[in-house]
Amino acid sequence: MIPYGSQWLNDQDIDAVVEVLRSDFLTQGPQTPKFEQKLAAAVQCRAAVVTNSATSALHVACLALEVGPGDLVWTSPLTFVASANCALYCGASVDFVDIEPSTGNMSVDALQQKLALAKPQNRLPKVIIPVHFAGAPCDMREISQLARSYGISVIEDASHALGARYGETIVGDCSYSEITVFSFHPVKMITTGEGGCLCTNDQKLEQKARLLVSHGITKSADEFNKTEADPWWYEQHSLGFNYRMTDIQAALGISQLTKLADWVERRNQLITRYQRMTEKLPIEWLTVDEQRLCSYHLAVIKVSPDHRRPLFYWLRQHNIGCQVHYIPIYQQPYHAQSSQYWPRCEAFYRQIISLPLFPRMTNAEQDEVVKVLEEYF
Ligand SMILES: *Cc1c(COP(=O)(O)O)cnc(C)c1O
Repeated sequence: MIPYGSQWLNDQDIDAVVEVLRSDFLTQGPQTPKFEQKLAAAVQCRAAVVTNSATSALHVACLALEVGPGDLVWTSPLTFVASANCALYCGASVDFVDIEPSTGNMSVDALQQKLALAKPQNRLPKVIIPVHFAGAPCDMREISQLARSYGISVIEDASHALGARYGETIVGDCSYSEITVFSFHPVKMITTGEGGCLCTNDQKLEQKARLLVSHGITKSADEFNKTEADPWWYEQHSLGFNYRMTDIQAALGISQLTKLADWVERRNQLITRYQRMTEKLPIEWLTVDEQRLCSYHLAVIKVSPDHRRPLFYWLRQHNIGCQVHYIPIYQQPYHAQSSQYWPRCEAFYRQIISLPLFPRMTNAEQDEVVKVLEEYF
């Protein structure tokens, strides 16, 4: 089976992990802050805070922005459930903004209309979470302008978009948001096994996030309430969690990050090659604005709804590990809501299949995927 996505680890990665295993610190040692510095430098933000998953980072991001009971959070319906669950963890409610059919990203028009309707009803969200679907940056200029004009904060769920660019900016530099979140799950752009991070330029948000990731406990004397503290003293200032990344994971992340630029380039090459080789087939590729660099976490195609299910089965039968990203969140039993409110997401869902795409994919493997597609049509 050619998988839809796959990590790529080499001896350099394995040596980096083994070195930590032989060292004094498995967690809370020197690797974690080093990885944070490398990440912050890579995406040009003031601070990165690493976590044990992007899900944890989204939770902490919402808490740092003071999302709580009675609040509303809006995200895309076409995303992994974690983009919505983070609001529910805080006791807030979640609602969805319909998508743009050409990209699968949050629609600016739909957002504008929904905000205009919500305002007179006093139902404005506290936070909006756009998701850079498949690695293509959302219309961040417009989304952030709208959010600012209504006094709403923005968290970018950039789980797919490490290495992506938006105009002159890098996704993660938070030019258009308070916080940006990345995932290091094995199918994402780089991996630490499980892992994630949040990026911000706001020192207060960084401080809050750091506390929340580690039990709400601070060990720095300059933050203590107590004066003249003894050397064993530490203080809990908020109700935090153990969402820490280990040094084992951070060492892997540092090593993986050195390959990011090459991998983004290879993913783009493979997509260009896919598009060229499938020109004559009745499939449609998502579009990416020419001012943006897509990291291409996923290779999403659209086919007519009549073909989606049979083509999916055909690909799987022929050992092509395709997937569907995503089942709209409102279709999940836990989140169940009528699909009528998000007609564009509903139509999009009925057309999409994710084809195999990963940096280590060979041209021969790609030829095989295209051959199976051709045979179907
Ligand atoms: C993978 C993913 C997450 C969750 O990432 P984890 O690191 O697995 O917690 C959140 N949002 C989106 C859009 C994702 O694809």
